[in-house]
Amino acid sequence: MSTVFKHPSFKKHEQIIYCHDEYSGLNAIIAIHNTQLGSALGGCRMYPYATEQEALNDVLRLSESMTYKSAIANLNFGGGKAVIIGDPRKISSETLFRTFGRFVNSLNGRYITAEDVGTNEKFMAWIRIETKHVVGIPSYIGGLGDPSPWTAHGTLMGILASLKKQTGSENLDGIKVAVQGIGHVGYHLCRELFERGAKLFVSDINKELTKKAAEQFNATVIPLNKIYDQDVDVFSPCALGAVINDQTIDRLKCSIVSGAANNILADEEKHGKKLQKKGILYAPDFVVNAGGLLDVASEFFHVHQLEFLKTKVEEIYQTTLAIFETADQKNMPSNLAAIHLAKERIEAVRQVKNIYTHRRHRE
Ligand code: NAD
Repeated sequence: MSTVFKHPSFKKHEQIIYCHDEYSGLNAIIAIHNTQLGSALGGCRMYPYATEQEALNDVLRLSESMTYKSAIANLNFGGGKAVIIGDPRKISSETLFRTFGRFVNSLNGRYITAEDVGTNEKFMAWIRIETKHVVGIPSYIGGLGDPSPWTAHGTLMGILASLKKQTGSENLDGIKVAVQGIGHVGYHLCRELFERGAKLFVSDINKELTKKAAEQFNATVIPLNKIYDQDVDVFSPCALGAVINDQTIDRLKCSIVSGAANNILADEEKHGKKLQKKGILYAPDFVVNAGGLLDVASEFFHVHQLEFLKTKVEEIYQTTLAIFETADQKNMPSNLAAIHLAKERIEAVRQVKNIYTHRRHRE
């Protein structure tokens, strides 16, 4: 038996594709978790993983989250994700991304790619030369560009809903928020929080970004590993995943965790329960960070109407509150309540498909 099927993060994934090309130096894994709702849509991350196992773990977890993210956002996409092993500052090239695009194309629409950590619009434009199954492409070739500002806006909705649930008010004036990672999403989130009166505490590996946040948003810069210990109302992880883990969870002094990073909890079951027990309200990552997905879905359907997109992204506020409600009713952690609701929708749509229609009628 292959190690993939026995991997702890393997959760009934449909298909896992290893892609290698000697000339370009491409080593990538594409994971398609579930296509009950439609084509598996999810970004392509590029990261210098220390081992192949680390990359596999990431792509398995990320693709599973995408299944729930689409389902909860009422989109008809499945869950998928890709990882390219390597440092984007060292090996990203037209050859590498066009080669990756050809692998994506070979899947014939079962997987649609987009940008993620370590990749950007320019790379998506290279992929677009080889396949139409890519979104998040630049506007000069018909796309909507970088989805990050929409992800940030949706994350803000998650924070507002959490505040409403905890305090009865969504007023951010004077509310202390610690933001970990002020890259594409974190920067826009900080801007929106600052405009609404929040007091910001920020950390990032990149000192230029923390300097910018201090200058533009009057943010207090916190050393990397001290971000968990801040006496704040909200902790908003916007860097990488698994930051709520056995080492960090007891250090948190906040009453809300709500951020854009994918897979914030190292262990959904264990750390979701522990946050609930500690009285920390957790707005599930795949619910609040769906703004970028809604944006690229608009691009996919050629719906370029900003007001419509804004309305859809702002629905994340109500969705988050509905998840808290379900969590209360079922006395379960919010992240597990969200997965429960996502699976319910997938099952309901599966039932719809019991009715036979000739394929041509659906095209
Ligand atoms: P990004 O690479 O632009 O930003 C991440 C930032 O985190 C970088 O500035 C990096 O220096 C910083 N960082 C890395 N490790 C850190 C650490 N240990 N402590 C503090 N800072 C650290 O990525 P992004 O597009 O802003 O995405 C951020 C997160 O949100 C990722 O987990 C991504 O998967 C998730 N997400 C992004 C989008 C989107 O639209 N971009 C959509 C959904 C989810």
